[in-house]
Amino acid sequence: MIICRTAKSFVQARQASGIPEAETGFVPTMGALHDGHLQLLARSRVECRQSVVSIFVNPTQFNDPSDFAKYPRTTETDIDMLQAAGCDILFLPDVEEVYQAGDHFPEHYDLGRLESLLEGAHRPGHYQGVCKVMHRLMRLVQPGSLFMGQKDYQQCMVVQKLMADHNLHARFVMVPTIREADGLAMSSRNRRLTPKQREIAPAIYREMSAIAANIDKGNYRELEKQAADKLLQAGFAHIDYVSIADARTLEPAEPGTETGNKVCLVAAFLGEVRLIDNLPIP
Ligand code: AMP
Repeated sequence: MIICRTAKSFVQARQASGIPEAETGFVPTMGALHDGHLQLLARSRVECRQSVVSIFVNPTQFNDPSDFAKYPRTTETDIDMLQAAGCDILFLPDVEEVYQAGDHFPEHYDLGRLESLLEGAHRPGHYQGVCKVMHRLMRLVQPGSLFMGQKDYQQCMVVQKLMADHNLHARFVMVPTIREADGLAMSSRNRRLTPKQREIAPAIYREMSAIAANIDKGNYRELEKQAADKLLQAGFAHIDYVSIADARTLEPAEPGTETGNKVCLVAAFLGEVRLIDNLPIP
């Protein structure tokens, strides 16, 4: 595995490999890697000749400075994991390298309703930061395929819009969420949970599954409220949202929304750790 800390050395390594960009798969991450990330890399390795992973804790996408400060950073272990998993090139830039003065990128991205719904509403500026970094990374890497996790469903929609609006051509592959045995979606933030909180955390998956099982039985807003109440009873400190949404727009779904086009999305705090998850409703 080649480790590149600058854009220049990355371009050199890419060129030296002799593999066309179209045959390169790209997995952008913020590190603190787990099996969910490795699954994206595994997909890329199956489908592409060369796999690039980036690790960059992007300051512009944190609307809460203390969340940025406390975001887990485990670079040495991450490097070992990527090496063992068969990553070809690791791009490991610092903030100055990504946000170079003189680069011409938009100050603002038009994300339409995606910016006022769910994560967009609860994390002001978050998706602007995601677009800022993804635009820069995609311009540099120019992959044939981009692999991102369904765990961040709305982020997948935002990045697909970014790509369409800014002529970033790549095949977008949304990889299903990898979960712990008890249903908790793998996340770098899970490391911050106390043992007691870790026991409570799978309630999110339980409540989403209950919604999916009962989708024909109730008023959707009522189902959302019941699930939120149950999460609070289980020990969650605060619920940002439980939403049964149209999977194409993320607007609230109604019973008339076609089967197969609904998704349940949750964001909730366990102590000060904010967890998000979602489940497609069959
Ligand atoms: P992050 O490091 O949290 O920015 O995540 C990097 C990529 O890994 C994103 O595309 C995430 O959606 C994806 N990802 C994170 N957790 C999981 C998971 N449990 N299963 C699948 N993909 C994931």
